[in-house]
Amino acid sequence: MGSVVELRGVTREYRMGEVTVQALRGVDLEIDAGQVVVLLGPSGSGKTTLLNLVGGLDSPTAGDVVIAGEAIAGYDALRLADYRARTVGFIFQFFNLIPSLTAAENVEFALALVERDHTASAGRARELIQRVGLGDRGDHFPAQLSGGEQQRVAIARALANHPRVLLCDEPTGNLDVDTGRQVLDVLDSTARDDGTTVLLVTHNSAIAPMADRVLRLRDGHIEHDDPNPTPTPASELDW
Ligand code: ADP
Ligand code: MG
Repeated sequence: MGSVVELRGVTREYRMGEVTVQALRGVDLEIDAGQVVVLLGPSGSGKTTLLNLVGGLDSPTAGDVVIAGEAIAGYDALRLADYRARTVGFIFQFFNLIPSLTAAENVEFALALVERDHTASAGRARELIQRVGLGDRGDHFPAQLSGGEQQRVAIARALANHPRVLLCDEPTGNLDVDTGRQVLDVLDSTARDDGTTVLLVTHNSAIAPMADRVLRLRDGHIEHDDPNPTPTPASELDW
């Protein structure tokens, strides 16, 4: 299988008045399709910046970003929005569900961006809710769900458009250990069933064993790349 994520000499600088922060400093990276890659590194090392560049939420100051064959670094806002809707899925620390929509409707809402047939969307939303183990909770509002359940709805929503790449920024950062482990297990199994490539940012190194590959960032560059950690299912992690 070829690489689905390619970064070549990617630099991202943020100018804040007189000060320039180098969030990423010439990163080169290739990730194979279907891999689960964990990104570790201290706060401020550039993890979120890297994820945002792959997800088309941000553009590099220099370098190339090629995702599933698309060179997105030069895309304007409109093409980036279209790219995001078609190609990537996002999971964030704070779930970011729409509070006035039920679990199933949150998933349908994401589907509406790419699927015009409402009946097909509703059916796929139900199927996704089922897959993340919330078959009986589809009609519940986010406030009626626990944190772990809300994050599973967010996983269903992120997978709605069959993304090639799933980007997860500290997905267990707001969950207790047991709930976090369950969420990772659902994430791992659903993504692997679909052959989705996963980039998962965490500062919890105990999560690393679920990965096919572990990257450690420091100060805007990849300090360590372990392409062969021994993968362990999330449910068996000792953290
Ligand atoms: P991490 O996710 O590893 O904690 P980030 O990618 O968020 O790190 O940040 C990397 C560096 O870039 C930090 O020094 C951060 O302060 C800076 N940074 C990130 N986003 C912005 C922004 N929008 N404006 C200015 N500086 C930023
Ligand atoms: Mg971050």
